[in-house]
Amino acid sequence: MITASSRSRSSRSRHAVVIGAGIAGLAAARALSETFDQVTVVERDHLPATPVPRPGVPQGRHAHGLAARGRQVLETLFPGIGRELEAEGAPTADFCRQARLHLPAGVPRPIPSQVVIQPVSRPLLETILRRRVAAIPGVRIIDGCAVTGLRAGTREITGVRITRRAVAKAGRDTATIAADLIADAGGRSSHLPGWLTAIGLPRPGERVADAHVGYASRTYHTEPGVTADWRALFELPRAPHLTRGCSVLRIEDHLLLVTLQGAAGDHPPGDQDGFERFAKSLACDLTGIVGPLRPAGGVSRYARSAAHRRLYHRLRPWPDGLIVLGDSACTFNPLYAQGMTVALLEAQALRDLLDGTRRRDLRGFSAAFQRHVGRITFWPWMLSSLADRAWTETSPLVRAAHRYLSSYQDLAVEDATVFHNLARVTNLLAHPATFVQPYHLARVLHSQLRTASRRLGAHPGTNQRNGTSGPPTSRG
Ligand SMILES: Cc1cc2nc3c(=O)[nH]c(=O)nc-3n(C[C@H](O)[C@H](O)[C@H](O)COP(=O)(O)OP(=O)(O)OC[C@H]3O[C@@H](n4cnc5c(N)ncnc54)[C@H](O)[C@@H]3O)c2cc1C
Repeated sequence: MITASSRSRSSRSRHAVVIGAGIAGLAAARALSETFDQVTVVERDHLPATPVPRPGVPQGRHAHGLAARGRQVLETLFPGIGRELEAEGAPTADFCRQARLHLPAGVPRPIPSQVVIQPVSRPLLETILRRRVAAIPGVRIIDGCAVTGLRAGTREITGVRITRRAVAKAGRDTATIAADLIADAGGRSSHLPGWLTAIGLPRPGERVADAHVGYASRTYHTEPGVTADWRALFELPRAPHLTRGCSVLRIEDHLLLVTLQGAAGDHPPGDQDGFERFAKSLACDLTGIVGPLRPAGGVSRYARSAAHRRLYHRLRPWPDGLIVLGDSACTFNPLYAQGMTVALLEAQALRDLLDGTRRRDLRGFSAAFQRHVGRITFWPWMLSSLADRAWTETSPLVRAAHRYLSSYQDLAVEDATVFHNLARVTNLLAHPATFVQPYHLARVLHSQLRTASRRLGAHPGTNQRNGTSGPPTSRG
């Protein structure tokens, strides 16, 4: 067994193991490759050579919008990747000019902005990242191989236990891979809490927020050469009454990826008729958009969308040799399209932090990195879990904050400054505190006063289109 004292990192080559070849795992491998001599990515799926969905990432069939901040970080970790995606048929788009945002109060007028997104399918993004990572000297991706637990030394994690699926089925071979650092990027289905307790460490605390969101997606062929005035279209549900929304992306291969979203249990059906009925009930004329198009496949559904924030950054003692990032540490309600960007920010932090420890040993590094993850996930979690809690909670604080954010969204329809800032915050380019800067605060308070006085003059019982009274409903 390797002990802390025998692990002098300067005298021999260093090895890192990454669990999972999703977005977080591939980005982490890229970050680790700058400091470690060898990086092994262990993935339980058999990885396809072409961009097709795979079982370990069932969300890959649904719209995966990479926020503008994520695109920037991706470019710093993988220079030139934006051009590579463009060459594959997925060009960039200005979020405020080429994405159509259907808010409950209307559609903001397009404005030019520096908020740049790049609509692409999740399988294509992952395939290109995988190709890039596999080409880095010292990096190896082992697929078809699941991690089943951790190997622990006296004070640190020293490796992972693996089971080659096919062999394990026959009840035979299990093995371990020794490493100086293990990064768990196993995603939503990570078993790390159980693995920790199995070696005598405590389980992390956990926060959960569940807006009971369900997804249904289908792709359609569009006509090559026919230009549209938008490359992405988003209609947002809003608690407590507007349960339905959609994300529609023009992705590679002239495909239109349509993802229907239903919150508070109002899930889109998986059959063709139900899918079309749900689409018809939206405000954005989705039926008019897809009506003339030929479907490229059937309908796929997804409903395991509860958000979890695991408080690894507070766990004491935190062992050396182990870090956690991506969905394994914090999953978000997918409606807010934050997960990939947060994972990339964590990988960037990993690279920067390792850069500072290049010639020292790694004692204390894991705990320090986990504190970074705690800080990176804090605001995205606060914003998204607040919106999630608004579906079920009636506490004055949640209601007041939700009312403020709803008014802010409504204002974006008429105020270009507010629209621009809303786009920057939702794309993780600006801090949510900008929502309450003096100009923005004054605009929201003024609009709330205006709405209140209008309501005082309105007929009692009038159903408000902006979703502030009446029973839960779609827009149908
Ligand atoms: C329906 C849906 C829609 C979403 N839409 C968006 C969006 O629009 N924008 C956005 O930014 N994010 C979105 N997300 C979130 C996004 O998918 C994740 O945040 C992002 O992929 C980062 O995840 P990850 O790499 O940590 O995990 P994953 O991408 O889930 O990858 C985990 C990998 O680990 C592997 N693995 C798991 N356990 C083991 C094991 N024991 N051994 C070996 N390998 C293992 C899995 O097979 C998988 O390959 C969405 C999520 C869902 C569910």
